[in-house]
Amino acid sequence: MATIPTDAIAELRSKSRGQVIVPHDATYDEVRSIWNAMIDKRPAVIVRCAGKDDVPVAIRFARQHGLDVAIRGAGHNIAGNALCEGGLVIDHANMKGVTVDRHTKRAYVEPGATLADVDAAAQAHGLAIPVGINSTTGIAGLTLGGGFGWLTRKHGMTIDALVSADVVTADGRQLHAGHSENDDLFWALRGGGGNFGVVTRFEFQLYPVGPEVTAGLIVFPAAQSRQVLAGYRGYVESTPEEFTTWVVMRQAPPLPFLPASVHGTDVLVLAVFHAGAQAEGQKLIAPLRGWGTPVGEHIGAMPYVQWQQAFDPLLTPGARNYWKSHNFTELSDGLFDAMIEYAGTLPSPQCEIFIGLIAGAPNRVAPDAMAWGHRDAKYVLNVHGRWDTPSDDDKVIAWTRAFFKASQPFASGGAYVNFMTEDESGRVENAYGANFARLQAIKRKYDPENVFHHNQNIKA
Ligand SMILES: Cc1cc2nc3c(=O)[nH]c(=O)nc-3n(C[C@H](O)[C@H](O)[C@H](O)COP(=O)(O)OP(=O)(O)OC[C@H]3O[C@@H](n4cnc5c(N)ncnc54)[C@H](O)[C@@H]3O)c2cc1C
Repeated sequence: MATIPTDAIAELRSKSRGQVIVPHDATYDEVRSIWNAMIDKRPAVIVRCAGKDDVPVAIRFARQHGLDVAIRGAGHNIAGNALCEGGLVIDHANMKGVTVDRHTKRAYVEPGATLADVDAAAQAHGLAIPVGINSTTGIAGLTLGGGFGWLTRKHGMTIDALVSADVVTADGRQLHAGHSENDDLFWALRGGGGNFGVVTRFEFQLYPVGPEVTAGLIVFPAAQSRQVLAGYRGYVESTPEEFTTWVVMRQAPPLPFLPASVHGTDVLVLAVFHAGAQAEGQKLIAPLRGWGTPVGEHIGAMPYVQWQQAFDPLLTPGARNYWKSHNFTELSDGLFDAMIEYAGTLPSPQCEIFIGLIAGAPNRVAPDAMAWGHRDAKYVLNVHGRWDTPSDDDKVIAWTRAFFKASQPFASGGAYVNFMTEDESGRVENAYGANFARLQAIKRKYDPENVFHHNQNIKA
């Protein structure tokens, strides 16, 4: 680890309004811990910013002392890019402000906010941004990589709702990026990850949602997977975009609405969501039950914010995680064969294979409108390798990779940078496809020395 002179740290402290944390500080281990327990990096210094003006101070300090820079939102990225070994981390945990203007339907969001912070502030006015499905995820990393969840069919990707961003670039300049100012930077930020600078404020378009939605789970025995998947394929794309259904194949967690005999058995779960009139939602849900014989169901009207937190108990920090994903324009029998085979050999009780449905609004945007260009993707499949014990690392990682490979022939190509693990840097060009060359040019303009490289790195 680089040794930084004590007087330099003292000077950094005097220039920052936030906290400057170094390895001998009592809070160091807590502050450097992130969601994926496989990541154990020890930065030389963590600047927990109090506001946007701390960011250029931190960047200049890192450059002056030859330190790598990592940028942290809520620390959910499974590759662990929120941290860097021996470098400087720009940490936004104390910048969680969310301001909503209900008249213009705009939200102004600081980069340390979680989805729970954003949802709560927006729902106070009956509004929402299309974000992800786990409320402890950070809005910053999620947005910069793309962002999708229950509202995506209707309202698009999170980046589709991004109106502008304030950014600190590698040379310490504070820029505004939007359609009429630094539009190249704005284009790159919408999917290009943390490659171009540190975002200190996001401006989003809000949409009316809820506050009550109809949502829940229908659980089938895994033995009925093929018929349920066939029903799913034939139905979901034709439904109104207020409605979505995701598929999850895993072992049944001990949910109270499931009989004890089902707990721990292999199941296929349909997670359903409707943002509209309850009677209409129930009508759309009804056919799903006929695809098999459910072993349990829990569906009803609930506040949108409650559904946004429904999966949090299954996605707590502290477990080991290794994920991979593909995009799909259609669901083929070959994919179903692979899913059924690998869901039949789950290497730990927490592993799962899921399909998220995004067909709808995202497909109506041009592929070159912004950095994230997979506008033909209708489904995103993610294989979650998740387990507790380091001795299981090889077993679970091997299973995850094998399923990824088996499902690859049926995928539409491309990749989602927010679901990439550390060992996937070779897929970055593939993740951006035809937009990669333009991203490289913008990288050369705003970060020619690749100061921001602890990410799915765009090498210019
Ligand atoms: C449990 C779980 C559920 C998830 N569910 C979904 C989902 O439903 N939909 C979905 O789309 N994704 C989902 N994801 C993936 C998620 O979008 C990524 O993990 C994302 O990187 C998380 O953002 P973060 O701010 O929490 O992460 P961090 O690890 O803090 O940041 C990730 C990266 O983003 C960049 N970054 C962060 N903040 C800034 C900033 N202020 N300026 C510039 N760059 C920055 C940096 O490169 C950083 O390394 C999920 C992840 C987890 C772990």
